Amino acid sequence: MNQPTIFSKIIDREIPADIVYEDDDVLAFSDVNPQAPVHLLIIPKKPIATVNDITPEDEKVVGHLFTVAAKIAADKGFAADGYRVVMNCNDDGGQTVYHLHLHLLAGKPLGWPPYQERIKRA
Ligand code: AMP
Repeated sequence: MNQPTIFSKIIDREIPADIVYEDDDVLAFSDVNPQAPVHLLIIPKKPIATVNDITPEDEKVVGHLFTVAAKIAADKGFAADGYRVVMNCNDDGGQTVYHLHLHLLAGKPLGWPPYQERIKRA
């Protein structure tokens, strides 16, 4: 069973967030620890924990996360310059909040690839 997370509290307005978009199925708000000049999180209101937990019945809302990302990019004027959308899954993916979310990063050229070999020191 999915446990409530801090994102459920944002959906329920129990804690504040800088909300930039909302409809019946999706909410988008600023990331509290931005990794780019624009860093938004787009989440389904349904509490899906990880990419592994997406079911066929969720395909519509998961697709909607992407159309909302593109709408925000167009509305905020960075669609043509470009941006990145990312979903992290579980520990190796760097997921820390177990409520599905699409990161939308923009506002500067973004580095790639994200993986860097850790240098082990004696
Ligand atoms: P991830 O590591 O992919 O699970 O991403 C979780 C993101 O949620 C991180 O980028 C955090 O900075 C962000 N975050 C955590 N708590 C909050 C919050 N209360 N409001 C906005 N963003 C948050």
